[in-house]
Amino acid sequence: MANIAFIGLGNMGGPMAANLVKAGHKVQGFDLVAASRDAAQADGVSIANTALDAVKDAQVVVTMLPAGKHVVGVWTEVLPSIPKGALIIDCSTIDVESSVQAHGLAAKQGIASVDAPVSGGVGGAKGATLTFMCGGDDKAFAAAKPILEAMGKKIVHCGKAGAGQAAKICNNMLLGISMLGTCEAFALAEKLGLAADRFFEIASKSSGQCWSVTSYCPVEGVGPATPADRHYDGGFATAMMLKDLKLAQEAAARAGAATPMGAQAEALYALFANQGYAGRDFSAVLQLLRGQVDTLTKDATP
Ligand code: NAD
Repeated sequence: MANIAFIGLGNMGGPMAANLVKAGHKVQGFDLVAASRDAAQADGVSIANTALDAVKDAQVVVTMLPAGKHVVGVWTEVLPSIPKGALIIDCSTIDVESSVQAHGLAAKQGIASVDAPVSGGVGGAKGATLTFMCGGDDKAFAAAKPILEAMGKKIVHCGKAGAGQAAKICNNMLLGISMLGTCEAFALAEKLGLAADRFFEIASKSSGQCWSVTSYCPVEGVGPATPADRHYDGGFATAMMLKDLKLAQEAAARAGAATPMGAQAEALYALFANQGYAGRDFSAVLQLLRGQVDTLTKDATP
């Protein structure tokens, strides 16, 4: 069992740190927000006064933060104080460039590092069923795997530093595109007088089949239970999908990759979010295509 420092105890980080405690690790946590610190403490995480305090005896440091600038900032601050021989893992979803930069900072201090963004959302974080997509050298991945196993059920080594982030944004760009395609097809079927459950029966078994149709159908009452059956509440928020689509477009621009469908998906999700639906599940974009956005609950105005 290891001494683990966990920085960033929010919606995802809080339950992930709690699962490390459940697995028998000694976890020192830190977050800027008092409510996140208190919730983690109630789950058995010892709370440090600062990030530096949290890492000083750590064998493993985990970060779960909003964006690249936070990860680079926290890693720059804590790396000089991390004991030699320790491992640092970033589970945040961030841009590939910042991830590679963070790995470089760790290498300069002689600390092994892994990028390990997740899929599975808050439910997966709570249930320790996350998928981790990992980037880093073989030795760092081997050291990270048993730690990640306490928080997830599928741990994949995708390649070198930054490869985990690359896998995450490519997968989520594909998801954004496939959900829009699914919504367009169901909206057209409806206009053509085709019942949604009949179309589901065909599309879920034919060449149009994809996860957005079969496991996450955007139409209420069709297929397995999904956010569509609860007014598009919970699930994967449009704001999170938009974040990942923006990361994919940034990466595509840097790499010179042609991603016209990803660009369209980003534009449509930005339009939907700007109309006040950033908090709705991303499959609610069906209502925009149907011309029925006014059936959705808008985000609370701050
Ligand atoms: P969140 O905003 O709930 O948590 C982030 C936490 O980081 C906050 O509590 C914040 O106070 C803390 N933080 C920010 N700067 C800090 C600093 N300098 N020191 C210490 N703490 C700091 O976000 P989340 O939903 O937990 O997501 C975390 C990451 O996981 C994001 O990169 C997100 O894209 C990714 N992710 C989220 C989901 C999801 O469903 N929520 C799914 C997959 C991936």
